[in-house]
Amino acid sequence: MIDDDAVSLDNLQRQILFGTGDVGRAKAEVAAGAVARLNPDVRFEARQARLDAANVAGLVAGADLILDGSDNFATRLIVSDHATAAHIPLVAAAIGQFQAQIGTFRGWRADEPCYRCFVGDAFDAEDCDSCSELGVLGAMAGIAGSLAALESIRALTGFGADPAGKLHIFDGLVPAMRTIRIVKDPACNGCGNQPPT
Ligand SMILES: [Zn+2]
Repeated sequence: MIDDDAVSLDNLQRQILFGTGDVGRAKAEVAAGAVARLNPDVRFEARQARLDAANVAGLVAGADLILDGSDNFATRLIVSDHATAAHIPLVAAAIGQFQAQIGTFRGWRADEPCYRCFVGDAFDAEDCDSCSELGVLGAMAGIAGSLAALESIRALTGFGADPAGKLHIFDGLVPAMRTIRIVKDPACNGCGNQPPT
């Protein structure tokens, strides 16, 4: 787990590894303690760091899969470009107020898109809506987290349908789920120049 943030009171209704007594403590460290309480045989590596282009390779070295739940395009695209270059499957999960999006990407493959094919060369606007302004329902975060966990286990073990190149969108207002196919962009700055494997 890579996270440089500290637990705050308004995280607690959706970030269920943390409790009131953890406010102010490093999230990665508290999460490690929560997992150890659940099952001391799980090996949990807490990296208290902010992922960037300079440290991404070292932080995720040796990973079989990356599950990205970060909250900004700058980080998400750094993660995606590195996952594509290093041939590490990426499960990307994001939520808006009433929408959750979960996708699995193996962009180094000739016929499969990367996350950047989906969002383009996106950037974070200065006036971008944020969780603290709009509010996030804990139940929506829970649905997104469970779906992302399911897709991560699927990508690692290979049960059911191959999820790569599809985006699952949960609409909490209906509620309903739909799946769209993402097309590989030949001019993508993340995977367009990858030698096919
Ligand atoms: Zn791409």
